[in-house]
Amino acid sequence: MTEPLVGRMRGFGTTIFAEMSALAAATGAINLGQGFPDEDGPEGVLRRAVLAIEGGRNQYPPGPGLPVLREAVAAQRLERYGQSYDPDSEILITVGATEAIAASVLALAGPGDEVIAFEPFYDSYAATVALSGATLRPVTLRPVGGRFTFDPDELRAAVTPRTRVILVNSPHNPCGTVFTREELAAIAALCVERDLLAITDEVYEYLVFDDAAHLPLATFPGMRERTVTISSAGKTFSVTGWKTGWVCAPPPLVAAVRTVKQFLTYVGSGPWQEAVAYGLAHEGPWVAGLRATLQAKRDRLMEGLESAGFQVFRPEGTYFVQADLRPLGHDDGLAFARSLPERCGVVCVPTQVFYADPARGRHYVRFAFCKRAEVIDAAVARLKGSGPAASA
Ligand SMILES: *Cc1c(COP(=O)(O)O)cnc(C)c1O
Repeated sequence: MTEPLVGRMRGFGTTIFAEMSALAAATGAINLGQGFPDEDGPEGVLRRAVLAIEGGRNQYPPGPGLPVLREAVAAQRLERYGQSYDPDSEILITVGATEAIAASVLALAGPGDEVIAFEPFYDSYAATVALSGATLRPVTLRPVGGRFTFDPDELRAAVTPRTRVILVNSPHNPCGTVFTREELAAIAALCVERDLLAITDEVYEYLVFDDAAHLPLATFPGMRERTVTISSAGKTFSVTGWKTGWVCAPPPLVAAVRTVKQFLTYVGSGPWQEAVAYGLAHEGPWVAGLRATLQAKRDRLMEGLESAGFQVFRPEGTYFVQADLRPLGHDDGLAFARSLPERCGVVCVPTQVFYADPARGRHYVRFAFCKRAEVIDAAVARLKGSGPAASA
């Protein structure tokens, strides 16, 4: 049989997570690869989903999403960021941030258009842009003073007359960067000057550490009217399996995204929407606790990785820490990650898979710290005990 997969999706065969999670299962290794928490979300939120199912809320919700969730998202944006969105015309509920990103890219970019994204990027970005027929233009984040950031001149140079959209993920997976006011202002100024649309992925909006503050790009001058803001419940409430996300944007942009979204999934599941609405309205203190706990876990894993010989970059947010392998005498993260379960009993993800050109991220691997403290400690003990530098 000839290759059944359509040309534009070749090269997106299986995600690295499938390969690494299978390796973890086969070897019994501790999985610090995929970013999902190993503890449940808030009791009140979980209970609400059960009540919704038992209460008979099991048929199609309205296309744009349940009003109670759209209202809760509007209230959250207003309270947290001072942003005002109309729940009826400016908010759309989606099947996770992933569908929101896909529907937005498919709605706003097509063949002949260019989409800029900071690399390394979340793995759905490149596949989604390929699906749209547009061309992805990566702008590389590099370590400067211990954190990954971009060169504003490089960003400016990436804009061409064909550029339609810039995709901005902050807090950033996998780098852990939370873009500063200055960085976001530079992006915003460029969008206004070159009349670009922005799609923002803010799924880690609550999970920021130390003095870092999450600032939505849409709050910058000239940006509200050109930004599709995306977030989701998965990371905020430790319910990554619920796949409930949302889009906030002015009416013409929401209408464009809804046009695509209605033919991808029509609507997302109703019971989760009720539960997430409850969470946004009532579980602020629980989320604050999660943030504090994650910060402590970040420190725990960072210290452990440093003592095992990695060079690590202190993430300002998210679930993830980047580690440079070169101090260990390794320079290929893919080979390192593939052999690590066997050698040490630990799974990580080679960051190079998140680059348009893997060579640019060859020497980095990503570890997740959204795991119980004893799991992190056990992984660190294994990494130190068998010495990842010892064999390759
Ligand atoms: C987890 C994650 C998503 C996916 O969110 P869902 O709501 O599960 O679809 C999107 N973007 C980034 C950067 C993520 O880490």
